[in-house]
Amino acid sequence: MPSTSVSTGHPIPAPVLEILGLPSLDDLADDQTRGATCVWCQVRLTAETAVDLGEHLSPLPGTAPPMHWFPRACRKDTADRAHRGLFTHAPMCEQCTDDPGGCEISRWLYRLVRENRR
Ligand SMILES: [Zn+2]
Ligand SMILES: [Zn+2]
Repeated sequence: MPSTSVSTGHPIPAPVLEILGLPSLDDLADDQTRGATCVWCQVRLTAETAVDLGEHLSPLPGTAPPMHWFPRACRKDTADRAHRGLFTHAPMCEQCTDDPGGCEISRWLYRLVRENRR
């Protein structure tokens, strides 16, 4: 677990972000790395509509210091991606096959669907 998560809200674990399909820093516009717009659909975000995807630290090429970035997403994309993620994750996950309630990843995905679905 990287220690780069912010103290506000709940830091979403890296494997869950991977399932959601967080883009890499290279693919994002400046507004997206600041959390001003959704990392997926680029809609402008407000405190009420944004889902915090945590603080990330990415190495930059050469001798530049690593860059901190703070991606955020709109609720609709988060819920949709978490929902789709549940279907792709569960069949591949031993834990989910045995006991879905015991899998931290599926618990996170369920929670993101529940919290952000309209
Ligand atoms: Zn979006
Ligand atoms: Zn699982």
